[in-house]
Amino acid sequence: MFERLLPCPFCEGDAVLAADFNGRYRKWFIFVKCEKCGSRGKTFMSYSDPERFRWSNSPCDNAVKAWNKRAYIDPDDLNYHMINNEDD
Ligand SMILES: [Zn+2]
Repeated sequence: MFERLLPCPFCEGDAVLAADFNGRYRKWFIFVKCEKCGSRGKTFMSYSDPERFRWSNSPCDNAVKAWNKRAYIDPDDLNYHMINNEDD
């Protein structure tokens, strides 16, 4: 099971774990997003459908951790939007 998601650092809306399948890369892009303002956390790539792991494989875990960490991060980092490649 993953950690509880903290509310959005921008608007305090509810955050959810989400994934987009990218056909070009043939990978799942996993991230946490705010349901209210749509802001996204750091994106992690997975070779498998996260549904199959009930959203608890390591990319999901990392996305949750990154989101929760950002809830407390300094303002200089608030516009940080980037695809993380380091785990591949
Ligand atoms: Zn928000």
